[in-house]
Amino acid sequence: MIDLQAVIDEFCALVRIDSPSLREGEVVRAIRDRLAEMGVVAEIDGAAEAVGGEVGNLIARVPGEPGAPTVLLNAHVDTVEPGCGICPTVEGTRICSAGDTVLGADDKAGVTIILAALRHILEEKLPHPPLEVVFTVAEEIGLCGAKALDYDALEAQMGLVLDGGRTMGVITNAAPSAYRLAWEVTGAAAHAGVCPERGINAIRVAAEAIAEMPLGRLDHETTANIGVIAGGEATNIVPERVTVDGETRSHDEAKLEAQKRRMIDAFEAAAERHGAAVAAEVTRSYRSFHVKHGEPVFDYAWRAAEALEVRPQAERGGGGSDANIFNEHGIPSVIIATGPADVHTVNESVDAGIMVESARWVTQVLQLIAAEASA
Ligand SMILES: [Zn+2]
Repeated sequence: MIDLQAVIDEFCALVRIDSPSLREGEVVRAIRDRLAEMGVVAEIDGAAEAVGGEVGNLIARVPGEPGAPTVLLNAHVDTVEPGCGICPTVEGTRICSAGDTVLGADDKAGVTIILAALRHILEEKLPHPPLEVVFTVAEEIGLCGAKALDYDALEAQMGLVLDGGRTMGVITNAAPSAYRLAWEVTGAAAHAGVCPERGINAIRVAAEAIAEMPLGRLDHETTANIGVIAGGEATNIVPERVTVDGETRSHDEAKLEAQKRRMIDAFEAAAERHGAAVAAEVTRSYRSFHVKHGEPVFDYAWRAAEALEVRPQAERGGGGSDANIFNEHGIPSVIIATGPADVHTVNESVDAGIMVESARWVTQVLQLIAAEASA
């Protein structure tokens, strides 16, 4: 049995441990101790150095039904800011923060669900495939832990990423590609009152470029945003320098490339009009994926939900997650609902009832895979 109160207690204990990205040492050790109590040995990989954090990813291997495909179970252990000193409050099955921090259900709901499912499987000696349980660090700052994993050392043939939304039964089987774009516009400084004609206003150049580019939701599968702008020194100086950070995402690679081009062109055209210089830095954040019906991991998740009399639903995600990286590395992976709402805000909450159902769902998927391998 997966006990509701035990799930609530474990979740609350985990969110009370501060774990902003790159400072996940304490929570990783706490999770390792919980695994050890179940008799599961976990090791920490070398990702700390690659990501520049306190600790690497936590990886545990659990032997299972011979002949069954190895399954990756994943959740990330870092949380966004403001996420230190989280004080969870429980009302019925709803858990929220005190209102001054996020709750950290993204993604400690996922961590809790994996621990609950594993404990249940091991205690009840339920049939399951070999498992690779991977708790990643630094997901929120660019999927850094997942990117730093040693994929040659992983055998997983499919993955369940516990980092989904609040509707039980939702399988997120597609996610967009994304670029990060950063510009530095260099104009010329001059005294704004004495000789403004000698200056080239970098803020003006950036403003014109931004005003020209399509932003927001561009179509049903493409978005773009300018999120950060900084520059200028004082009101009496024509600003010489401004930096601008933005992004674009699409489920369609051609649309993504076209939008990236439009954003870059807008800066170049504005810079040219004013005689300013512009340097663009473009980095690929992650690649899109689409795990289709018929792909084993999708079908197992679908059928397991039906077996629990939950209506399965496939959904496209709007953001990147570690699932993008696993799919990119040839491990077909889908994202499973975990129960949180309003993530990345101080209003974040989670329904512990969904965490319990989600843990049962994971258990069901694993039993289904093991049953078919032994048949
Ligand atoms: Zn997350």
